[in-house]
Amino acid sequence: MSHRLLPDGVSAQDVQAECLNRMARRESTGLRSNVLGMLLVVVVLGPSLPTWLVGGFVLLRLAVLGFLQGLTRRIQRIGAAEAMAQGLDRKMVLGLSASGLTWGLLAWMLADIPRWGLPDQLMMMLLTVTSAMALIVTAHLGRGMVAFNGGLWSVALTRFLSEPLATSWPLLVSLAVYMVVLWLFGRQLHAQAREAVIADLRNRHLAAALEDSNAQLQQALDQAMALATKDPLTQVLNRRAFLERAHLEAAAMQRENTTASLLLLDLDHFKAVNDRHGHATGDLVLQQACASVKACLREVDVLARWGGEEFLLLLPRTELAGALQVAERIRTSLERAQHPDWPAGLALTASIGIAPWPAALPVEQAISLADKALYRAKGMGRNRIDIWP
Ligand code: GH3
Ligand code: MG
Ligand code: MG
Repeated sequence: MSHRLLPDGVSAQDVQAECLNRMARRESTGLRSNVLGMLLVVVVLGPSLPTWLVGGFVLLRLAVLGFLQGLTRRIQRIGAAEAMAQGLDRKMVLGLSASGLTWGLLAWMLADIPRWGLPDQLMMMLLTVTSAMALIVTAHLGRGMVAFNGGLWSVALTRFLSEPLATSWPLLVSLAVYMVVLWLFGRQLHAQAREAVIADLRNRHLAAALEDSNAQLQQALDQAMALATKDPLTQVLNRRAFLERAHLEAAAMQRENTTASLLLLDLDHFKAVNDRHGHATGDLVLQQACASVKACLREVDVLARWGGEEFLLLLPRTELAGALQVAERIRTSLERAQHPDWPAGLALTASIGIAPWPAALPVEQAISLADKALYRAKGMGRNRIDIWP
């Protein structure tokens, strides 16, 4: 492997693991072509060869293929990183070398049979095709061709030793040229395969980083939105967000020709709660009261903190009779509200002013009508509900 600088987020280990991954994938999907190649040899060379030779070759190849298949399945199951930790990458090289060796061995056996009827060219073509296949498979490791080439060279040497130079030199020369081409092509193929792996890993790293920063941005945006629209103590809408929502609601009401109700709720004698039990308890009571109110509402109803201990409620598609029911439910629920954290004897009540809100009326005016109703409810002794007009 070259020691070129790797891009950010890609380690040499990652590259090796991804190479192993790809080899495993290719090996496991290449089973059919491997078996086909073997059958081709049997069909083309079988008739001219002794059965034991063909049978031996087939058995040898099946054993190697079985070994490689088992290995690739295991690598795919446990993942490339774990596979490397268990030394399976070395076994992969071993298996691929054995695979190359079976072809080389075939070449050697063919060459060693004196009365072999097929022309040398056919054998060389077959070997070229199979070695190119082996080369592509092994491109990710840049080795594994050694055993196969060893087989080829032994063919040439056998010829060279058993025949006069005058007849064996063309084979020797063509083999040498073939080796050089194979070597150059193999190096290039290996470099390309490695570049592709590195680019792929870098893309994956960038995609993950992008996803990360997207998530962070989204989180920051959510936080900013929450800060801009929610009351930090009670987590209900703030004044501004309520008005925005009310304007949307007004548009919907106009479209649907419906009427809504507005409720303005103010906790009674809340100053006394603070004075008697402290501001922190006052905060807690505000939160609890808010939760109690919320529990009385529908999903579509809008609750906002209008001021200190004052809450505004918008009930879409609700006539006054319905609004009165909701207000009464809230009033009794607050009256009964108790919480384990609250000091003993803390009594909580609220007064509520209701005003109808027809779509044609600006929401600010409807609010001021509800405020008038609330003022009247307070004047009549608190813990009660009033409707405007
Ligand atoms: P009333 O029945 O007339 O409404 O009497 P009240 O005491 O509730 O009304 P007042 O307007 O006199 O006092 C409101 C109190 O609410 C005073 C203020 O300290 C308290 N308050 C407002 N906001 C908060 C808050 O965020 N936390 C706490 N603990 N108290 C708050
Ligand atoms: Mg009050
Ligand atoms: Mg008040």
